[in-house]
Amino acid sequence: MKWAIRSSPDYPVHPQILQPRIIPRSEHCISRKQISPNALRVLYRLHEAGFGAYLVGGAVRDLLIGGAPKDFDVATSATPDEVRHLFRNCRLIGRRFRLAHVVFGPEIIEVATFRASADDGSGDREIDNGVLVRDNVYGSIEDDAVRRDFTANALYYAIEDFSVRDFVGGYDDVMARRLRLIGDPEERYREDPVRMLRAVRLSAKLGFTISPEAAEPIPRMAGLLADASSARLFDESLKMFMSGHGVPSLRSLEANGLLPVMFPDAADALAADGSGQCRALMIEGLRNTDLRVTEDKPVTPAYLFAALLWPAYAQELARMLDEGADLAVAEQRAADRVTLRQTERIGIPRRFSVPMHEIWFLQSRFPLRQRKRVFRLRQHPRFKAAFDFLELRATVVPELMSECEWWRDTLELDDTSLSERLDKQAAPSAGRPRRRRRGGRRS
Ligand code: ATP
Ligand code: MG
Repeated sequence: MKWAIRSSPDYPVHPQILQPRIIPRSEHCISRKQISPNALRVLYRLHEAGFGAYLVGGAVRDLLIGGAPKDFDVATSATPDEVRHLFRNCRLIGRRFRLAHVVFGPEIIEVATFRASADDGSGDREIDNGVLVRDNVYGSIEDDAVRRDFTANALYYAIEDFSVRDFVGGYDDVMARRLRLIGDPEERYREDPVRMLRAVRLSAKLGFTISPEAAEPIPRMAGLLADASSARLFDESLKMFMSGHGVPSLRSLEANGLLPVMFPDAADALAADGSGQCRALMIEGLRNTDLRVTEDKPVTPAYLFAALLWPAYAQELARMLDEGADLAVAEQRAADRVTLRQTERIGIPRRFSVPMHEIWFLQSRFPLRQRKRVFRLRQHPRFKAAFDFLELRATVVPELMSECEWWRDTLELDDTSLSERLDKQAAPSAGRPRRRRRGGRRS
């Protein structure tokens, strides 16, 4: 494999001769106070046992820009077995990447042995058709740096002298808020297409720009993501949409041409969205989720996928109703079709697709005001989620506002007060013939 480290003449091109730039403690802002005490414990123990021990990856990057890392990863010269012997609270995981997890109650410090980027022919590193499928060849810290994705993710904070070690120009890139791929972008994307998604996600999360060399191939190579594992794509999409950066992530997916391969139905809906309602609904749904994440409130992927796929579902449902299908049958079929198409790309587990369907199905129940139906809907386990979704729809479809208000007013009522309210509302229309409402066909 060639490692042409581009556009940074200060850095030599071959890993064997990479000289790190060392940024001493006095010249960077990372203080031990900002590092998880458990990560420090791991780093010190490894160092005292004579191994190289570094904080690496997202944590170093985030600390350099004043962010709060969500996890602290450690890279070391110790092999997984050596790590296991040093820590009682350690378990080894993973086949593709063999890693040590050092467990401190709810916090897990991931400890990875330096990995080599070159295939040594041992069979421990498998490249299948240009795609990296297994990577267990251990190597030097230089090797480990160049096999990472972006230069900003390849910085090492050394516990021995608190310096930051930079083998690939990552420090300047972090300072310039830039994501630059290590090596040849096309080759790196072919090796692991999920890196395209990571570029989009990290740029949205960090507000970094994707360097032109790294951005240019993405729309051309987007199709490769169709072959990536759908479970991995699901994990990436959760990171994208459930960690407070959903709105910029959707925009970045769209701008970089990845939306059609990740969410084909959502991309089609946006392409045909003359009124702008579909876009408004998706953005508003993501914004609500982002806000809840910032406020530390619970969020569920079911709501989010419900919003992204609602236009496709609504369209499919309308088509089936036009063809004369019964409402209940049409709802189920429309939901199944949309979900099936989506799970070909991103494996949405049933524990999220089932509640997503329920959120959709309950939408047609909100206009029904017969006492029995109102009470039944209110008791439905998914009522609150479905009501939140109705509120979301009402932000883009003003006609739904009064329905939304009616239901909002009932939220605080106990059963007796609700019953009285329904009595009062029924009274003025007494004697008038009852109109059959849309959706009333459902038994
Ligand atoms: P986040 O803040 O979202 O966790 P991160 O960069 O820490 O971002 P992780 O998935 O936690 O992302 O990965 C940790 C590190 O492992 C990265 O910083 C990068 O150095 C390396 N890495 C992760 N995924 C890849 C990949 N697909 N190819 C190469 N290196 C990767
Ligand atoms: Mg991380």
